[in-house]
Amino acid sequence: EPSIVWFRRDLRLADQAALLAAAQAGPVIPVYVLDDETPKHCRMGGASRWWLHHSLASLDAGLRKLGSRLILRRGKAHEELAAVRRETGARLVHALHHYEPWWRNAEKAVAKGMQLVLHDGNYLAPAGSVKTGGGAPYKIFTPFWHALKERMPPAHPADAPVKLDAPEHWPGSDALDDWKLLPSSPDWAGGFREEWTPGEQGALSRLEDFADRARRYDECRNLPSIEGTSRLSPHLHFGEISPATIWQRVADAGGSVDVFLSELGWRDYAQNVIVQFPEYGSKNAREAYDRLQWRDDPEGLAAWQQGCTGYPIVDAGMRELWHTGWMHNRVRMIAASFLVKHLLIDWREGERWFWDTLVDADYGSNAVNWQWTAGTGVDSNMFVRIMAPLTQSPKFDAASYIRKWVPELRHLSDSDIHDPTFLPQRYPRKIVPHAEARARALAAHDAMKAQG
Ligand code: FAD
Repeated sequence: EPSIVWFRRDLRLADQAALLAAAQAGPVIPVYVLDDETPKHCRMGGASRWWLHHSLASLDAGLRKLGSRLILRRGKAHEELAAVRRETGARLVHALHHYEPWWRNAEKAVAKGMQLVLHDGNYLAPAGSVKTGGGAPYKIFTPFWHALKERMPPAHPADAPVKLDAPEHWPGSDALDDWKLLPSSPDWAGGFREEWTPGEQGALSRLEDFADRARRYDECRNLPSIEGTSRLSPHLHFGEISPATIWQRVADAGGSVDVFLSELGWRDYAQNVIVQFPEYGSKNAREAYDRLQWRDDPEGLAAWQQGCTGYPIVDAGMRELWHTGWMHNRVRMIAASFLVKHLLIDWREGERWFWDTLVDADYGSNAVNWQWTAGTGVDSNMFVRIMAPLTQSPKFDAASYIRKWVPELRHLSDSDIHDPTFLPQRYPRKIVPHAEARARALAAHDAMKAQG
């Protein structure tokens, strides 16, 4: 009797415990269900869909080399898996643990009709399993990371199966192209194609490329003008590579790589938070902020989205995001802070925009980082620490980064480009002066406190 492997954000063959378990037990039916219903308002955004298309094509090609193939179905996950069961007689479903609230609901629904076996391996440790001495899950990153590190290194990553047995009957499958995951008119994905190679091979070559640079991560990671970080985030989000594989390769490369490994820890931490607070993507963890008077400013929001705020570092970041589906982490912090503090626009607007435009859009990581920036989260109360974009930009040497993404400013010198005095035509004036924005944000915060 065959068993089903239910792929979700774990689109790889190596170190994939669900696939291995199924392969050892007999014939395997690999299935991916495009489920736009169960996640409701968290259905996958445009940039992620572009990535998904290529990642599924790559997974199918890899499976075919092992004598298998990927079955594509569209609809509610539990209904589609039940239909595959009826078509094939498979009673067992193997899958990896995922912690988005909608996936946990879907798992419950699947488990009602079939035997669902969940495996670990998409995170360094199962979310919620790292606990304080008193047995409670952690709310703050640093103690969480210390406790997680005690359990590291992760288990040695497992190889991909060498062969997969086919079932007697293949169930019906959609054609990937019919899902229309790629943009057509307009085709905004040109920059994506230049920057990324979705799939397991693409992930491994990013890792190889980065492993040699990993020892310099700590000095380079905050400088957007150079390639100082790994750019593994979309590969990790879609599970094309396991964190254990990355850990092992980077630790083997030697040198001081602790800061990099702690970033993988942040990824785990975000899951640890959403397991405790499933609505973290839409609700302030600090309820006092429910009273903060955000501004309703559709024009300001659009200027931010389009990279036309008149703050070069913010605009460069937002244009990099639109063009490539990715933004450097330091610039994400600056751009997010700008939306929330300078424009005083609710962080959830930013979360939604990132959700739609990032190729690494991840429910946990996105929510945790937005709430951290806004100061509304469990872990920080940062609202009154207002980042100054015009100071951050020279501090982190962003001149050539700005030149690349805001070509109107290309001719300006390294010192002028961060805050140009003479504006070229076509480049907007500052949407709001820094001092005024700062005062406005602090006043809104004071008013919120006064009501408390
Ligand atoms: P590296 O610096 O090479 O780090 C390696 C890996 O560690 C990353 O690939 C990522 O998986 C993980 N990581 C690094 N920093 C963080 C972090 N702060 N939080 C969680 N994981 C981290 N990251 C996402 O993966 N998805 C998101 O939706 C997302 N939204 C964000 C929103 C805001 C407002 C901010 C400030 C940050 C957000 N991040 C998000 C975190 C971070 O910016 C990206 O993970 C990072 O820029 C990815 O680039 P990299 O792979 O080169 O990272």
